Amino acid sequence: ATPVALLVGTGRGAQLGILIKGPEALEQTRRVDTILLDKTGTLTTGRMSLGQITATGDTDMALRYAAALESASEHPIARAIVAAARESATTLPDVTGFRATAGLGVSGTVEGHAVLVGRPALFPGTLDPLLSQAIEASTGTAVVVGWDDEARAVLDIADTVRSEAPAALAELVSLGLTPILLTGDNARTAGQVAAAVGIDQVFSDMLPEDKVATIRRLQSEGRMVAMVGDGVNDAAALAQANLGIALATGTDVAIEAGDVTIVRDHLGAVPDAIRLSRRTLRVIK
Ligand code: ADP
Ligand code: MG
Repeated sequence: ATPVALLVGTGRGAQLGILIKGPEALEQTRRVDTILLDKTGTLTTGRMSLGQITATGDTDMALRYAAALESASEHPIARAIVAAARESATTLPDVTGFRATAGLGVSGTVEGHAVLVGRPALFPGTLDPLLSQAIEASTGTAVVVGWDDEARAVLDIADTVRSEAPAALAELVSLGLTPILLTGDNARTAGQVAAAVGIDQVFSDMLPEDKVATIRRLQSEGRMVAMVGDGVNDAAALAQANLGIALATGTDVAIEAGDVTIVRDHLGAVPDAIRLSRRTLRVIK
């Protein structure tokens, strides 16, 4: 590879809002045949908002406790919950022993209660029928809030599919790539987003380690895998993929883990990056 050709490639990349970390990344891009995309913040805008709240007891208390914990999290779900709580202008109680578990949720102690916020699966056993119906009826991502070993509320969080996503996916397919949706969210929401953007293959309910295992399995089948993601929970998958593409709108950890960083808040930059590296490599050869 001539350094001059690489410079041309990366210079044009900067114009397109694409930062390429090194020549190895370019080389990998040429051979990629499968592209995995995260849902939240990647196929969707990640600007989530809180809809319906369903609680077995005090709704305000459930929202305050959830927001108190989530104010320490950078997940798009957390931002939606904190923004909703701020609207009712109450101050949030202090939290001790805060913990975030990537792909699952957050926990900590609030006003002497051990509070959990996250996936319904965090609450084993039977839920109050009011809450299980709210999860069933959710049109987005149902987040459960509970304390002292009891689920007490369901927060329905809505997200919006990026308007440019269907066109970007069609471009990726025309470049010969097979797109797959890889998400920690539930099967129903994942299926809706996949259908909206034109993806046939979906892996849902994936923990961060499941994302890594899925990539390994595809690689062992001989596939060259690119992964597009933005979150803390995507960092390991971005590192495992042959080509990690991080969205700069996401977390620092994800950007660290990527080979390519998309600094334009537009999914069209992903097919641009694939085309750019193929073209750059043709110049080099
Ligand atoms: P995605 O793969 O779509 O980016 P994540 O892996 O980030 O999704 O999250 C998977 C699921 O874990 C979410 O749908 C949510 O149920 C739960 N979750 C993760 N982080 C949080 C959080 N900070 N607060 C509440 N729920 C969370
Ligand atoms: Mg994500």
